[in-house]
Amino acid sequence: MNAPDPLVDRFGRVHNNLRISVTDRCNIRCVYCMPEVVQFLPRQDLLNFEEITRFARVAVTLGIDKIRLTGGEPLVRRDLPALVEQIAAVPGIKDIGLTTNGILLAPMAIALWDAGLRRINVSLDTMDPAKFEILTRRTGFAQVIEGILAAKTAGFDPVKVNAVAIKGMTEDDVVPLGQFARKHGLELRFIEYMPLDAGDRWERDKVLYAEEILDLLTRGLGPLAPAPDQDPRAPAVDFDYVDGHGRVGLIASVSRPFCMSCNRVRLTAEGKLRNCLFALDETDIRALLRGGASDEAIALALRESVAGKWEGHQINTARFIKPERLMHSIGG
Ligand code: SAM
Ligand code: SF4
Repeated sequence: MNAPDPLVDRFGRVHNNLRISVTDRCNIRCVYCMPEVVQFLPRQDLLNFEEITRFARVAVTLGIDKIRLTGGEPLVRRDLPALVEQIAAVPGIKDIGLTTNGILLAPMAIALWDAGLRRINVSLDTMDPAKFEILTRRTGFAQVIEGILAAKTAGFDPVKVNAVAIKGMTEDDVVPLGQFARKHGLELRFIEYMPLDAGDRWERDKVLYAEEILDLLTRGLGPLAPAPDQDPRAPAVDFDYVDGHGRVGLIASVSRPFCMSCNRVRLTAEGKLRNCLFALDETDIRALLRGGASDEAIALALRESVAGKWEGHQINTARFIKPERLMHSIGG
């Protein structure tokens, strides 16, 4: 295969990372992500596996080599391992990941591994089952824990555990999550709360900043030091416990935006291409896929979307405009 012509934007950022949302549906209702009552997309609006795989194949010709499946909750999409297998078979894909709430993971972990998935992030905000029900408005804590442990047993290493960091909510969970992660050899990551929530609950004062988390972990579990050999393009800044037992990642999307090293594009479940999590414009890939467009035309649409990418989100300015889409319908 010829070396692909890279996907570069006006700021010289090379894009090799595609996040694909496979559904806007979810089996829980996290308060920071979704409203209680949601109008989901009709099923025929979702890209089918062949359409997703065709887009992935085209994207690879432009240098995409990392794909992450997300949602909504990706594991509610029927037969997800079959999609993983189809994407894994695309020559040039080096890495396939999945972000899941873990509820349906335990019985699927081995099938996902066998299909070619190698990276898994499970979202879990608390070790308190009662608080889990408040945060998610649903039950399922025990299944999530089971799912995380099943993923480890299936061979995923590391299993990453993602927690959203919300001031007044997360502080008490930081150390228990840290203890759980250290005990089971998991990589714990905290993501600063972002303004993509339902009901406009987000306020700057509700963001629990990465530095505060580091401080809580240090006081509760021991000193941490910056991890060696970090990928400067990765959104998480990693820290290792000085005692050698575990790693923590801090994703400071609000307090230290990483837009200038962003290498991501996103495809929504209904085939809209977004060049930023906070983008206000989208490119309709589904219309191209279903309208008989050539691979070259789809590649051009992707190239143009990346070329038009802005410098970065404006959360820290008065110019910030919240996108209409909520997190579950973008694919976080
Ligand atoms: N349902 C899957 C899950 O929860 O892992 C995948 C989709 S979810 C939208 C992807 C990630 O976005 C999760 O780790 C979730 O915690 C995070 N997330 C959702 N809303 C967020 C917000 N307002 N700020 C920061 N992270 C958020
Ligand atoms: Fe569902 Fe994930 Fe959103 Fe929670 S964060 S409501 S699990 S899509």
